[in-house]
Amino acid sequence: APEVKMLSSAIDFQAKTVSMVMTQLKDVFMMSIDSVLDTRTMCQLMETGHSRIPVYSGARTNIVGIIVVKDLIILSPEHAIPLRNLMGIIGRTPIETHSDERLTELMNTFKSGQAHIAVVKDVVVDPDGDADPQYVLRGIVTMEDVIEALLNTEIADE
Ligand code: ADP
Repeated sequence: APEVKMLSSAIDFQAKTVSMVMTQLKDVFMMSIDSVLDTRTMCQLMETGHSRIPVYSGARTNIVGIIVVKDLIILSPEHAIPLRNLMGIIGRTPIETHSDERLTELMNTFKSGQAHIAVVKDVVVDPDGDADPQYVLRGIVTMEDVIEALLNTEIADE
């Protein structure tokens, strides 16, 4: 019966964690803060089809902010503005989560904030216990990933 199906998927959802639905780091489209917003870069951005792009400095594991592609609509590619100059104006600070966080928790965070994307970071403890714990970036997760898990079905994205 549909009621039974709904209840059992609600129970499954309770058990789901971020690692089960996130987009892994290697698959995340990001931009370097050293990028220049010229025609080539703007076209690349458009082609990804993603609306939010993490911005890194130096290494891809060092995310310094998120840009929302629609915020770039007023820019002229001829001006080739360095992304670095814009970060203070349009850059957003991402929510942080970790691999083992329950999707029910993350959903609450998404609902209470304005951002619908989070970066997934885990603490890795040095086995010898000498060094300070390190953060390792695992990937990103969006509200869409959480809702998809909730519905337990693929949402066709337009
Ligand atoms: P969008 O429509 O901007 O892609 P959604 O929140 O609808 O964003 O997410 C759709 C899927 O794309 C999700 O699986 C999400 O993790 C993934 N995703 C979102 N942004 C990026 C990105 N910059 N690089 C790679 N995958 C992304």
